Amino acid sequence: MKYHYQKRILVTGGAGFLGSHLCERLIGEGHDVICLDNFFTGSKRNIESLLKQPNFELIRHDIVEPILLEVDEIYNLACPASPIHYQYNPVKTVKTSVMGVINMLGMAKRVKAKILQASTSEVYGNPTVHPQPEAYWGNVNAIGPRSCYDEGKRCAETLFFDYRRQNGVNIRVVRIFNTYGSRMHPNDGRVISNFIVQALMGKDITVFGQGNQTRSFCYVDDLIEGLVRMMNCPDSFVGPVNLGNPDEFTILELAENVIRLTGSSSKIVFKPLPQDDPLQRRPDISLAKSALNWEPSVFLEEGLARTIDYFRSIISS
Ligand code: NAD
Ligand code: UDP
Repeated sequence: MKYHYQKRILVTGGAGFLGSHLCERLIGEGHDVICLDNFFTGSKRNIESLLKQPNFELIRHDIVEPILLEVDEIYNLACPASPIHYQYNPVKTVKTSVMGVINMLGMAKRVKAKILQASTSEVYGNPTVHPQPEAYWGNVNAIGPRSCYDEGKRCAETLFFDYRRQNGVNIRVVRIFNTYGSRMHPNDGRVISNFIVQALMGKDITVFGQGNQTRSFCYVDDLIEGLVRMMNCPDSFVGPVNLGNPDEFTILELAENVIRLTGSSSKIVFKPLPQDDPLQRRPDISLAKSALNWEPSVFLEEGLARTIDYFRSIISS
């Protein structure tokens, strides 16, 4: 998509996995991009190639603290996304999704910016409806180890809709399902990065439980296209909308695919299933198809091959 005018766009969490790909895309379209990050899980390395671009700015800041920037659009991605990182300091995770989101919505209200929230399939918890449509209200434990993330993100959605009703803020809410690709943190414990790194290093592949829980994995380029389409769709459509790849795999199938594609001699070992680990997850993307004319185009096999190449290059360097 090409735009007729250049916008000033803030990407919070812009030095993270998804944020860095989004900044790259927006810079490529000629916009002025401000990347804001506290570098909890993000890194300067992710945005290294953008630092020399004249239309790119980097601000080290924590969204839990107020800030005022004159921008046209805000993509709010700041929040640790992998279980080991969001559970490291659960109170901080809640603060990021509640106080941080209030700060970003307050800024959007003051400068009349359009604001998009990166919500998550975790708002459906351990779903009893399969696949998950946006109308499903979810099955979430309020007091477990994943709750700081799940309930924080649910509260963030509530805040978005209340700022819209109360203050007329122009919002967008997307619910992102498991996404993978280059610049995932090699040690963040997410299943695709874990399995690929384990396979490339010849270590055991750690499948939690029996590996019959399912996930649906979306390649990063498809996801970024969905985010940009959502931000640019007519104001009458605000979401929430699911963005993800509906091809569903068991975790054991994923492990076998990674071993095959890496040509690794690693063995699969079974470890205990973490508490409240959702048994199944697959997005119903009919709404994204009809409202955004969006659907993913990269199959798991192809996306895994590209991601394996990325991890090979960082391991060898
Ligand atoms: P990530 O951990 O790579 O990126 C998050 C970024 O936010 C990091 O750069 C981190 O340093 C920054 N950050 C964290 N807390 C902050 C704070 N208080 N102030 C400023 N910056 C802060 O994770 P990601 O996979 O890129 O996820 C980006 C967003 O998308 C998150 O909001 C996440 O919840 C959401 N999401 C991601 C997935 C996925 O599969 N990748 C799925 C669902 C939702
Ligand atoms: N998982 C696994 N081995 C690992 C890491 C994760 O079997 O080394 C499982 C995990 O229990 C879950 C699935 O893979 O069932 C996806 O985990 P991830 O942390 O990537 O995402 P989420 O659980 O948030 O969907």
